[in-house]
Amino acid sequence: SEKASRIWYDGHSLAAKLYHHVLTSTDEGKAAREYLRKRGFTKEAIDTFQIGYAPNSWDFLTSFLQKRNFPMKEMVACGLVSVREFDQKPFDRFRDRIMFPIWNKQGEIIAFGGRVLKEGNPKYLNSPESTVFNKGETLYFFHKARQTIRKKNEAVLFEGYVDVISAWRAGIENGVAALGTALTETQTKLLRRVTDQVILCYDPDNAGQNATYKNARLLEKAGIRVRVAQLPDGYDPDEFIQKQGAERFNQDIIGRSLTLMGFKSLFFRRGKNLQDEGQRMDYIHQMLKEISSLTRAVERDHYLRQISEEFSISLDALKQEQRQIYRERV
Ligand code: ATP
Ligand code: MN
Ligand code: MN
Ligand code: MN
Repeated sequence: SEKASRIWYDGHSLAAKLYHHVLTSTDEGKAAREYLRKRGFTKEAIDTFQIGYAPNSWDFLTSFLQKRNFPMKEMVACGLVSVREFDQKPFDRFRDRIMFPIWNKQGEIIAFGGRVLKEGNPKYLNSPESTVFNKGETLYFFHKARQTIRKKNEAVLFEGYVDVISAWRAGIENGVAALGTALTETQTKLLRRVTDQVILCYDPDNAGQNATYKNARLLEKAGIRVRVAQLPDGYDPDEFIQKQGAERFNQDIIGRSLTLMGFKSLFFRRGKNLQDEGQRMDYIHQMLKEISSLTRAVERDHYLRQISEEFSISLDALKQEQRQIYRERV
């Protein structure tokens, strides 16, 4: 209900303030401050993204909420508090973690992502999903980025919150992230309402590239023009910005993002040896399938010519095969 949601929002808002205070102004927050400093988080970024630290305590937040008369049942339901199995005693869900608030599109904090400082499992602990927090309906930082997205008529979609924050520090204020899952129809619609152009900037590993391929399809279907920013192996956006700098990220990565067909061409080459005849034919077939889904004849012609030249295959043969694929589509 509306009233229950209000209590959940208030609980999250208070928790965010407390965690932020612990991070920025207490002895307990020292290790976390050091961790963030090493990762290049500026004071400005820590404030803008309301980053905090949940101390290594079982009842830091719980006792605060109790003192302020927050109903424990609600605090458990929204995932700020957990309960001990054998006696139902409430305790803090998030302990010894860097806390990233997650907002809904109205700018209310509805969840947290908590990152361990060292190696640890899980690396990120997120709030549980609830009537208020639906991962698939949420885009990290959308409540703030939407103005810039509209103004530029372009959004940049990242894999992780840390990437959004690093990109923001590099001057990219139209960055958002889906929360570690495949993009959903709801998130796509959210983006479509404010722009018809999206740059995908995922990790260069297999998981990231597979997600790029899937998400691109969904975005295109919704009428969004997609470009793909490609990172060198071994760098995610955050790591690239840390090591190579903001300027190179803007110029070489975002500035040189590929068209969707350019990305697909690289994507289908992954793990293939094009010197091998069979693998070369597989690649060409995959590309012809993609070309068949293009609605504009001029575009189809353009990409067919590229393949024709690269592999010395007659344009006629390619056209014939592409039409065949088109007819066989279901
Ligand atoms: P960092 O730079 O802090 O290691 P990252 O963003 O590079 O973080 P990835 O492993 O690339 O981390 O994961 C991307 C996103 O996937 C994260 O921001 C988070 O939203 C989500 N994620 C990663 N690991 C987990 C996990 N164990 N549980 C839940 N979500 C996760
Ligand atoms: Mn990743
Ligand atoms: Mn990553
Ligand atoms: Mn990273």
